[in-house]
Amino acid sequence: MKVYFLGTGTSQGIPVIGSNHPVCNSTDLKDKRLRVSVWISWDDHSYVVDCGPDFRQQMLASKCQKVDGILFTHEHADHTSGLDDIRPFNFRQGEIPIYAHNRVIDNLKERFEYIFRTENRYPGAPCVKTIEVINDEPFQIGNKVAIPVNVMHGDLQVFGYRIDDFAYLTDVKTIDDIEIQKLKNLKVLVINALREEHHFSHLNLEEALALIELVQPEKTYLTHISHVFGFHEEVQKKLPENVFLAYDNLEITL
Ligand SMILES: [Zn+2]
Repeated sequence: MKVYFLGTGTSQGIPVIGSNHPVCNSTDLKDKRLRVSVWISWDDHSYVVDCGPDFRQQMLASKCQKVDGILFTHEHADHTSGLDDIRPFNFRQGEIPIYAHNRVIDNLKERFEYIFRTENRYPGAPCVKTIEVINDEPFQIGNKVAIPVNVMHGDLQVFGYRIDDFAYLTDVKTIDDIEIQKLKNLKVLVINALREEHHFSHLNLEEALALIELVQPEKTYLTHISHVFGFHEEVQKKLPENVFLAYDNLEITL
């Protein structure tokens, strides 16, 4: 299984528009971060988690040829607002399954009314098939099983996903012990770590490291990173062994 980091930035991306922060001015490509998303592929199967505003650019950069489904974590715009750009895949593959909590599906129906319309559809409109994700109900993607992991982003419920020995959790602030049990014996955990300072709805570095201590994955990659966290190279030096700052276009094989 291959995991390709399509984007590793927080909601505004890095550089932030109009910012003169040193990280936004960095020439290191690892300091350029699109909105957070991963592409997971194995054999002939290909899935993405979330579909934010940088989706088109991410599909071009990663040379992704096919999307068998989109697993949504939650409805925030940095995770969903690229949905119109699935059209090139629709034209080649037809309807694309989207997996999400019912609340997220309802939210997408409001925000992308034209996509879900059953009458008077614009012929070129994106075409999706909705599949409800329910906690504690693992579901099939290709020939693998995805296990939803229920986490909280402040007051908002968010799904992370475990597939084999890999788990992807973003926009986590808190997670119940019972959900942590779903994360045992992982080869790779991806978890959000916004910055060093506290944030009401995102783990900071200290909180992310405490969660990693509990989960004990073989390796961890941090994502959903803010420019105020610092330069990639400097932040990486502060991290424990087997904890890595993810960066855009990083590809790992499990
Ligand atoms: Zn987010």
